[in-house]
Amino acid sequence: MLAQPAPPPDLKALSRMTARFVPTPLTADTSRLSVGDKKALVQLVAAAHAIDELFLKQYWSGNTALLTSLRQDATPLGKARLHYFWLSKGPWSSLDENRAFLPGVPASKLPGANFYPEDMKKEEFETWVKTITPQRKQLAEGFFSVIHRKGNSLTAVPFSEEYSVDLHKIAALLDNAAALTENATLKKFLTSRARAFFSNDYYESDLAWMDLDAPLDITIGPYETYNDEIFNYKASYEAYINIRDDAETEKVKFFSSHMQEIENGLPIEAKYKNPKLGALSPIRVVNQVIAAGDGAHGVQTAAYNLPNDERVTVQKGTKRVMLRNVQGAKFNSILVPISKRMLPAAATRDLSFDAFFTHILAHEMTHGIGPHAITVDGRQTTPRQELKELYSAIEEAKADVCGLYMLQYMYDHKLLPEAEKKLYTSYLASSFRTLRFGLHEAHGKGMAVQFNYLMQKGALIANADGTFAVDFEKMKSGVRDLAHDLLTIEATGNYREASRMLDTLGHLGPEVTAALQKLTDLPTDIEPVNVTADKLK
Ligand code: ZN
Repeated sequence: MLAQPAPPPDLKALSRMTARFVPTPLTADTSRLSVGDKKALVQLVAAAHAIDELFLKQYWSGNTALLTSLRQDATPLGKARLHYFWLSKGPWSSLDENRAFLPGVPASKLPGANFYPEDMKKEEFETWVKTITPQRKQLAEGFFSVIHRKGNSLTAVPFSEEYSVDLHKIAALLDNAAALTENATLKKFLTSRARAFFSNDYYESDLAWMDLDAPLDITIGPYETYNDEIFNYKASYEAYINIRDDAETEKVKFFSSHMQEIENGLPIEAKYKNPKLGALSPIRVVNQVIAAGDGAHGVQTAAYNLPNDERVTVQKGTKRVMLRNVQGAKFNSILVPISKRMLPAAATRDLSFDAFFTHILAHEMTHGIGPHAITVDGRQTTPRQELKELYSAIEEAKADVCGLYMLQYMYDHKLLPEAEKKLYTSYLASSFRTLRFGLHEAHGKGMAVQFNYLMQKGALIANADGTFAVDFEKMKSGVRDLAHDLLTIEATGNYREASRMLDTLGHLGPEVTAALQKLTDLPTDIEPVNVTADKLK
């Protein structure tokens, strides 16, 4: 007998699926924006809504018609389906292996999204590109084209043609915003990006984005290629309309000015330290007004690194944008409920979003220090090359632990007001948030290493009632020892030691496994309620 596809979820099941995303307000302070920027923001939010419409077309050919029919269904099930459709930006649920939650649609997300003919095989594309001119091949394999079937063959159509109507509309909104803002770097980015929509050449505007330094911090365009699961070639449109967080941006500058001092103080042998750090890649801290398109479906993005075009990154590096209010929303809606079950009641007093976010900043900054150019058996190499598939888990653990070490250093040297209890308590709570998602990727594996190491050192303690606690004195020495071990593995490119560490520590012990069982009914992520954006309408 042939297996029948599972029936789509009914109202009750769909409500349970939806409840995994807890609606959480997102606000951003617009009060200090200039009059021109306030008006520009209205145009940019409209552009974000237009990006949503464009992304729907990229994600699946049936999306636009499906949305129209969902909007006409006024039954409770119809409304629940429309709601989950908007969370997913299509008929498939990303938290459920991209399985369909609606009837009459493909059973799961199409590997090529809507970038290729649905019946095209990988081999057909590969054979075809060998027959075309180098120029056509570049377009066909590039970020910014879709592939159509033309007679017996294939053809590549640039985004500028394929999405001409949508892109004209979005470009007009960007030009309006450019005329309204007083900030020269924003004007330059918006006008060059609008032109890129017509020329299909995003290079100049990516450079302008790297130079963008404005109260309105805008990312809009085709960027990530994850939805193209056939080749990872094709970029999806997304938008992040943000307001720069000036206080946190100052904090990043302050940290940057101390990174050489932190490097000099790292707990490794002096010969492994870098006496002269190069420029670290820039970090912007912003508050999100609205995200759209590929940047707003399934689990919400809390930070991104762009651009992806190597011609730009070779010249100017990349920039990391951290969405502080999105992190805050996740903290309030996910981390606080987790900590109520995992920490003793008295310890939850020490939970602090400020300490949590400052540690995320420190994590990002300490990715830039420690061993990067190393010598193994007389060869010039890098930790990444030597540690291979183990590198990411080691490097993520290193950034977590060196982030703690850096902040402790700053407390000890009166560079920051002391907040030890808040830092380590928030770190412990957030470790459960990471471990909960499993150990199949670098962050989870790296977190398990830290957790078990610190348990063995007595820095983290499993209480008899199933909660966990921090021994603050042992924490300081435990963090120093672990930082030493991780940094030394990187400095010596020691694959065997990395492998031994991940094998012995990269798993969940019985106490944690039991404790995580208590979290299964908690939400997975947030559904942003765009309070600031909605007020602008
Ligand atoms: Zn990291």
